[in-house]
Parts: sequence; C-alpha cells; structure tokens
Amino acid sequence: MGEDVEALKRRLPLLEYLRQCNWKGSPVGRSEFVGLCPLHEETRPSFYVNTRKNVFYCHGCGQGGDLIRFVQLSRHLSFSQSLACLTPQNIPSDYSATVLRQAAALYQQQLDHYPEALSYLNRRGLDDPILIKELEIGYAPGGCLRRHLTAQGYSFDLLRQSGLLNVNGSDAFYQRIVFPLRHGEHVGNLYGRSIGAAFAHRFLPGSKGGLYAWEKVRHCPEVILVEGLFDYAALRQAGFRNVTCSLGTHLNGGQFRQLCNGPRTVYLTFDVDANQSGQLAANQLAHRLGAHGITARRILLPEGQDPNSFFVQGGDARQFQSLVEAAQP
Ligand SMILES: [Zn+2]
Repeated sequence: MGEDVEALKRRLPLLEYLRQCNWKGSPVGRSEFVGLCPLHEETRPSFYVNTRKNVFYCHGCGQGGDLIRFVQLSRHLSFSQSLACLTPQNIPSDYSATVLRQAAALYQQQLDHYPEALSYLNRRGLDDPILIKELEIGYAPGGCLRRHLTAQGYSFDLLRQSGLLNVNGSDAFYQRIVFPLRHGEHVGNLYGRSIGAAFAHRFLPGSKGGLYAWEKVRHCPEVILVEGLFDYAALRQAGFRNVTCSLGTHLNGGQFRQLCNGPRTVYLTFDVDANQSGQLAANQLAHRLGAHGITARRILLPEGQDPNSFFVQGGDARQFQSLVEAAQP
C-alpha cells in the first residue's frame, strides 16, 4: 500500500494535479511555485508548491502536505477515498491536454522567429495572419520545448508520456509546422508537418480525435471534407467556411459518426494522386455515407492536385466553387 502511494505520487506530481484543477502558480526560485490558495478564500497568493519535495503549504490557512492530503482537504474525502479517486481510470486525460496546450502555445510564439517556417507557409499559399492565428499554427524548431516545460514544473515523465519528448529526452517535433487539434477547449493532439526531409506527417501518440473544427460546421447542411490541414487552411483562406478535415483519408469511427449525425451533403475532395489511392478512399467513403443516408458528392480536381495545390497554382474561389457545383455523386 505504502509503495503504491509513492508510485502514484511520482506518476501524478502535485503540481500537475493542481494545474488540472486550473490552479495558476508562478515560479518563485528553482523548485517553488506560488498562487492563490484553493483551500481558502484569499486575494494575495500564499499557497506554495515545492516540486522537488512534491508538497504544498499555505501561509494563509496553515494547511500543507502531499497530493493525497490536498485531495482530502479540497474534496472533503477520507484518505482511502482520495486514493480511489486518483486511480488511473479516474484521472482524465486532461493532464496531458494541459501540457499539449502549453506546448502548442510555445510553438505558436516561435513561428514568427523562424523565416524558414514562414516561407514554408508561404509556399503552401498560407499568408493570412488572421487565419494563421485563428488556427493557432506554430513552429517547432526542435530543442526548446523540454527546457521551457520543465521550467514550468512539468515532469520529464509526463512529457515523455505525452509523446512531446522522445525516449532519449529530445523534442519529438523537430522543424515542423504545428497545428493543435482541439475539441473545444481541450487540445487532444498535435499535428506536425515537416518542413525538411523528415517523414512529412506526424501526430503525437493517441487518437487524432474527431473531425477538425467540427463544431464550426456541424450545423451546415453542406460540408466540404478534405484530407489535410493545408487543404483545410487553403479553402478557409479562399473564403470557404463550411470545411472540415479528416486528417488522412481513413476516417476513424468517431469522425464517421460525426458526418452521419444529421441530414447533410458531404463534398469529398481528397488528393488526386497518380496511384488513385485518394480517389479510391473517396469512393469508398461516399458509398459508406450513402448507406447511412448521407448524400456524398465527389469534387473532381485536376489530375495530380489537392485543394491546397489547386490554390497555390493559381486557382481561385470562383473556380473551386464551380468544381463544387459540378461535384458528382
Ligand atoms: Zn490556504
């Protein structure tokens, strides 16, 4: 039992638990954070967390102790009840969501400092600063994330578990344009597009989640579905608002159910590549959607193109709109 408690506290450091409860602490010194006390009302911060000892102490109400003690006090639970609510199945995946949000914020700050990242966006035709900001597009140069997040008190183990760091401790995303994959406030994953020679597409471990920005289009009677985030961005920049993205041609169960959850027409526009794999996937998906009572139409792009290259090579919104209107069942 005693050993289990120690293992639990290592797995879930107090600071991470507090952050999950939306506690905001500022660093003071090497391994201390201070913020408003969650256990009593106060207007000046007197609640200290020591990340080295993994304990807290409040100079206002005099309470202190470890993670279990904090859960007991804040939720009015016994010791064993507190332990029970800290078992892995009861801990939401939001711990890693918090750290993903922080990583995405850092990447977003980096973008403007790396001309190679901006010129990559430019080559992909993406130059609207408002859209870049709205989509929270960032850049992972590699080599800066670990220092930044450990300085904020995130443990090395959590960073590795989240996939942000490789097993050897280096940043997982290196020279990649980064899009956070959000579901409301929750960042579920990050997509990284290499701007160098590395494997082009990368996600962190775990699910890619639902359709991209689905909450913006779920009430639209007509939805354009693309396979890549640069396709999504190109269409949005061209003024199309009813766009969503499946992050690949294979939809997971959740994404498929989203498309089927109401009457709508789905316009599929996957890459037209030489080996026809995009078109094959689009045909199969159209078929499956049809079997679920959803009207599917395939937008036929010129040979060798995807929605992103269509606009990069000079296509405009009016031309794309006529392809939408000519879409075939
Ligand atoms: Zn207090």
